[in-house]
Amino acid sequence: MSAARSNFLAAAPLDRIGHLRRDEAWLAAARERGDWVALWRRKVLVSAEAAPRPLFLAADAMPEAGQDWVLLGERAGVPCFAFAVGGEEPPVALGRFEDIRGLGELLEPGDAALLAYARAMLAWHEHQGHCSRCGAPTRSIEAGHARQCTSCEAKHFPRVDPAIIVLVADGDQCLLGRQPSWPPGRYSTIAGFVEPGESLEDAVAREVAEEAGVRVDQVEYHSSQPWPFPSSLMLGFTARAAGGRIALRDSELEDARWLSRDDIAAGEVILPPRVSIAWRLVQHWFDAAPGRCLEREAEAGSWLARPEP
Ligand SMILES: [Zn+2]
Repeated sequence: MSAARSNFLAAAPLDRIGHLRRDEAWLAAARERGDWVALWRRKVLVSAEAAPRPLFLAADAMPEAGQDWVLLGERAGVPCFAFAVGGEEPPVALGRFEDIRGLGELLEPGDAALLAYARAMLAWHEHQGHCSRCGAPTRSIEAGHARQCTSCEAKHFPRVDPAIIVLVADGDQCLLGRQPSWPPGRYSTIAGFVEPGESLEDAVAREVAEEAGVRVDQVEYHSSQPWPFPSSLMLGFTARAAGGRIALRDSELEDARWLSRDDIAAGEVILPPRVSIAWRLVQHWFDAAPGRCLEREAEAGSWLARPEP
């Protein structure tokens, strides 16, 4: 694997400074001079430009007692925090609140990664207000990176749910499927959550067999992508088909197909957005054939520019 394989929403441009999360004196001073990312109901505060940037607030916008806040890290020496703004209506006086998923490629990758991290942390606080062991209220500790029960003192940490996503290839064909809820024509790589007691390789083999009826071997890691909506981590693999005919064994997919490079270049299906790890996996396989380039052929076929349905 190459270190250059950094996917969209990964590699937020900051130092997470985990060693300072319990340093109350440092935190008090940092809160005064830090930049604050504001979220309202999981929407982030961004500038009004067509290609929006995060709109950082100064210390006087710091949350009042009782509002959740998180130390994200340090950007170029400046502490960076996120906090949740309450209220029934978006606080429009502060600016424009948008869903990161809706902004997608409009965001610069570093900004998108930072905002997705902020969103994931505050979404976790929203759901961890009570102890999962005894039901008593919890309180935020360690600069928002843990919560502790006010009764039994159990500590709770933000969860990350691992999911595999895999490009299965059989020579010049790759296996893509579609879920009924997706936009018309959209096909993507096979994906699913890892279950307790499984290795990642086990999960890859099970998901492909369950969703498409195909057996795989040569399972190899490609790259990963945080998908914090709310808490997934997509672990990308490639695999080789080792037998089996397409059969939709569970109800996850409504269709699965083998597609050649020419089928894909001709725009026979609509691939997921270029910011997705699914696109990266298809591209990795597609470009491995001599003289082929998914990006270039998609543009030549003009289907890359086709608006999302
Ligand atoms: Zn408890």
